[in-house]
Amino acid sequence: MTSSPTHPELSVVIPMYNEEKVLPLLVERLRPVLDGLRSTDGLPTRYEVVAVDDGSRDLTAALLHRFRREWPQLRVVRLRANAGHQAAISAGIRAADGDYVVTLDADLQDPPEVIEAMLAVAKRDQVDVVYGVRADRSTDTWFKRTTASAFYAVQSKLSGMDTAGNAGDFRMMSRATVEAINQIPEHNRVLRFVVPTLGFPSAHVEYKRESRAAGDSKYPLTKMILLSLDSIVSTSQKPLRWATWLGVGGFFAAMLFLVYALIGRLTGHTVTGWASTLAVIALFGGFQLLCLGILGEYLGRMYLFLQDRPTYYIAYDSKTDSDHSPWAQ
Ligand code: UDP
Ligand code: MG
Repeated sequence: MTSSPTHPELSVVIPMYNEEKVLPLLVERLRPVLDGLRSTDGLPTRYEVVAVDDGSRDLTAALLHRFRREWPQLRVVRLRANAGHQAAISAGIRAADGDYVVTLDADLQDPPEVIEAMLAVAKRDQVDVVYGVRADRSTDTWFKRTTASAFYAVQSKLSGMDTAGNAGDFRMMSRATVEAINQIPEHNRVLRFVVPTLGFPSAHVEYKRESRAAGDSKYPLTKMILLSLDSIVSTSQKPLRWATWLGVGGFFAAMLFLVYALIGRLTGHTVTGWASTLAVIALFGGFQLLCLGILGEYLGRMYLFLQDRPTYYIAYDSKTDSDHSPWAQ
């Protein structure tokens, strides 16, 4: 692996959106962990923290700037507008320089102490990916747990992937893995379902998911549903197949109904059947809308992909253009 005196061994990528409440707690807990890391030669591990400010509109940016004055390893990558959790992670790992890159949430749900174990496992077992697996989700709300486990059940059935239902985005990756991810042009990618398909040797470390240390979730139900749709559409074509089968089934049902209607006409029973006619119209209208919706989900993503606009825009990176930082003095 490449090594130069300034080259970090470890990059810690943290996406954050309006996290002013949790930021001081995060710095207080993360810094001692990272300062305490030792490399095989016994020297402190060189690290950088890549805080990706996902277009926050609260004091996150100003606080980051303040923390940076006393913490040289803290690097700030600010996105011009809110691009969303997955895009913010992508921006962070693309910017990261470390031999190993770990991504974690800002809200301390992923305990920073686990990073040490992940690094140890990566080096000891010579694996490229170490997944943080939630051994215990009891601190998540009942609603979150139930919807998450239902979603992961559907997702793994559809994609045929053994997606570790309890692995989120707390994960350590080698430089080779990061380079491989950076080459994937896919938009709307959900990294937790992309990384396992890359085929790198992996291991996992279990941890207890904590509750959010401060502030509110930035994942309302609408964003959760969108993430689920992105996950399913990007890993499976089965919904399209269903649309086909529904169409085939609907066609045969319609043929049968036609025969029934013709017989009715020929035998003079034409007045009754009003309710069944309505039911059939409603049923087929529903089928058609459903199939159009499924097609639309795929088509819309293809359209976005063909437009090929970046999924995020970097306003500044304190590593290269600290002079352009709005807070430069
Ligand atoms: N996040 C982000 N951009 C967004 C939404 C969330 O960078 O548009 C970050 C957020 O600051 C946090 C992580 O993604 O660090 C996970 O979000 P959150 O903890 O709110 O999600 P939850 O744990 O409730 O699912
Ligand atoms: Mg959280």
